[in-house]
Amino acid sequence: METMSRAEGLAAVRADIARACRDAGRDPAGVTLVAIAKTFGADAIEPVIAAGHRVFGENRVQEAKAKWPPLIARQKARGDDIELHLVGSLQSNKAREAVALFDAIHSLDRASLAEALAKEVARVGRNPLLFVEINTGAEPQKAGVLPEHADAFLAACRDHYGLTVSGLMCIPPVEEAPAPHFALTARIARRNSLHLLSMGMSADFPTAIAFGATHVRVGTAIFGARATTG
Ligand SMILES: *Cc1c(COP(=O)(O)O)cnc(C)c1O
Repeated sequence: METMSRAEGLAAVRADIARACRDAGRDPAGVTLVAIAKTFGADAIEPVIAAGHRVFGENRVQEAKAKWPPLIARQKARGDDIELHLVGSLQSNKAREAVALFDAIHSLDRASLAEALAKEVARVGRNPLLFVEINTGAEPQKAGVLPEHADAFLAACRDHYGLTVSGLMCIPPVEEAPAPHFALTARIARRNSLHLLSMGMSADFPTAIAFGATHVRVGTAIFGARATTG
């Protein structure tokens, strides 16, 4: 990893996605690579943009706000758009900033946040793609809706808050095989007629693709190891 440039890392991940799609009999166009740039600055991100990548993810609103507006503006001046995804947990009091900055939010996980997002979406008329995060391992320290509460939460998002949820997201427990968690998330999505699945990170994105992932969130395999765990 140390000797691999970020453009090479990106190319390697794209090749792995293509292979996983071939193995699964899927069209690679159905898998969006969200390059997770958290902790990395513009100097690390620019080569990835130069290599043709346009879809990026962050896990903190404040960090994204400090980093992305100049990069987005520069790309816009070139007649081109960056797509920015929030993959980390979101405080309800940051819903306004999140709706203004992000094209997708992967971490909708509670009623208070659904309410705050609905208010902002109605106010500014901007509709980020929304994923409900499922805590498939029922880990107490982890964000996300418990699998047994998912159907009711999705119904409340739709019927009570008027939100359009497009998909589900999960982060399997680190010490477990990810496949059953991906399968469970895909099952909940299917019975709720949701078409998007945000699952798979550097260590497991080919497996996630086999289980139907439409969005893989890959940081380390593109940018290298992070100095701090984020
Ligand atoms: C950091 C992060 C990723 C990327 O993880 P890597 O292992 O570096 O690929 C994906 N999803 C979320 C929610 C993250 O916080």
